[in-house]
Amino acid sequence: MRYILVIDEGTTSTRAMLFAADGKLMSSAQEALTQYYPAPGLVEHDAAEIWTKTLACAQAMVTQAGGTDRIACIGITNQRETVVFWDRRSGEPLAPAIVWQDRRTADICAALKNAGHEDMVQAKTGLLLDPYFSGSKIGWALKNWPQLMEAGNNLAVGTIESYLVHRLTGGAHMSDATNASRTALMAIGSSGWDDGLLSLFDVPRGILPEITDCAGDMGTTLPALFGRPIKITGMAGDQQAATIGQGCLEPGQTKATFGTGAFILTQTGRRLPQSKNKLLSTIVWQLNGERNYALEGSVFVAGSLIQWLRDDLGLIGKAPETEPLARSVADNGGVYFVPALSGLGAPYWRPDARGMISGLSFSATKAHIARAALEAMAHQAHDLKTAYGADGCDWQELRIDGGMVANDWMAQDLADILDITVERPAFIETTALGAAMLAGVGAGLYDSLADAAAMRGPVEKFSPTINPAVRAARLTGWSDAVAKTLGVA
Ligand code: ADP
Repeated sequence: MRYILVIDEGTTSTRAMLFAADGKLMSSAQEALTQYYPAPGLVEHDAAEIWTKTLACAQAMVTQAGGTDRIACIGITNQRETVVFWDRRSGEPLAPAIVWQDRRTADICAALKNAGHEDMVQAKTGLLLDPYFSGSKIGWALKNWPQLMEAGNNLAVGTIESYLVHRLTGGAHMSDATNASRTALMAIGSSGWDDGLLSLFDVPRGILPEITDCAGDMGTTLPALFGRPIKITGMAGDQQAATIGQGCLEPGQTKATFGTGAFILTQTGRRLPQSKNKLLSTIVWQLNGERNYALEGSVFVAGSLIQWLRDDLGLIGKAPETEPLARSVADNGGVYFVPALSGLGAPYWRPDARGMISGLSFSATKAHIARAALEAMAHQAHDLKTAYGADGCDWQELRIDGGMVANDWMAQDLADILDITVERPAFIETTALGAAMLAGVGAGLYDSLADAAAMRGPVEKFSPTINPAVRAARLTGWSDAVAKTLGVA
């Protein structure tokens, strides 16, 4: 038996996992990553730390597997949009990695927006002018960190997967199309890096990687790393990998990952969607040069709200306590919690919005607040469902994953408020599973993603049971609270 080694490089930790070809998780290793916050709004990582810890986790998995011969291939998935600057001769970082959460280019993006560039950016990239995406950060770094320009032709820039591939192979400089589609430098409809976008963000083409498929031959690892070379055969950004891992392969199929934030993607097949409701278009995979697309909605605050209740308010000791608390009261008691603690993402895109708990009276208890916090997840998802519907991509069912969906009460509330069946796989590490599926296809273990979807195990379903009048009252209560938050009430 040979295994698929998956590298899952996340925002707060990096992991390596060993999958059997039937999708069974055999083993995993994980290391936490240091988060650097040099000033408000700035978030950085040390790419050297990411590499060292990723390599250590991957090596541990090779040992667990019983040696290099037991590894069929490697799949990589990663935090998207974060950019790394390195010396292409040594692989050593030349500057901090700028993380997707970093807002340092808010002014640059606002100025480009005011100058009327957003329509062009959206038409070409499927994205909006927001610091979330890498392009403006690369342009900023080239202007502000002199060592990058001094490196001349030795400077290489890329998102995390391209840095890992460079280190793993000892020099290849490539980025898969899903990761490249998050830079705002790529025309995602038909081509690659786009001259108009490169000049808008002041990024020279020569420092960027080659854009590749998500499955196939991506090079082999340096023999010194694992004893013998291993083929890298699959690669995708984390949300795209989760979409694949959830088996959302047909147009209309939708997944929602509730982790720190919540990310929802609806598969649209070969059709490049153009949102009129502030959703993003993104490449969900590229295979044999052909692209499939998805419509994406990102919610900035999901599980982080529960962390905040725990760590800052001290309302709960552990995240799962929110479930019995929510069940302990008959309803939210009129309390609504709009979790705009770092602004509101899709479909509002209001970075300036701030959070609000409304409807407090002396009869409100911490159980009502915990319940309102969980209810906010279904409401944020419902706002997105409305936007997707208006874009002609309404959801028929929703496949959920991420750390928060261990909460049964929340899963049921999602089904109730969205008024559709919600499906939760028994194995919720869908991101890693998606990378394993891609690597399996790339290595020829499976003929297609549809075949590889056999790796996905059993699922549990939640069906709507809520009284329609109660649901209607919840939806009205939430819209009123959002209107107050946005200052339009
Ligand atoms: P990420 O991958 O973004 O780091 P995870 O998918 O591991 O996040 O999810 C962890 C998040 O889920 C944390 O923010 C935590 O507060 C939240 N969480 C975990 N378990 C529960 C639960 N039972 N109920 C509500 N929230 C939970």
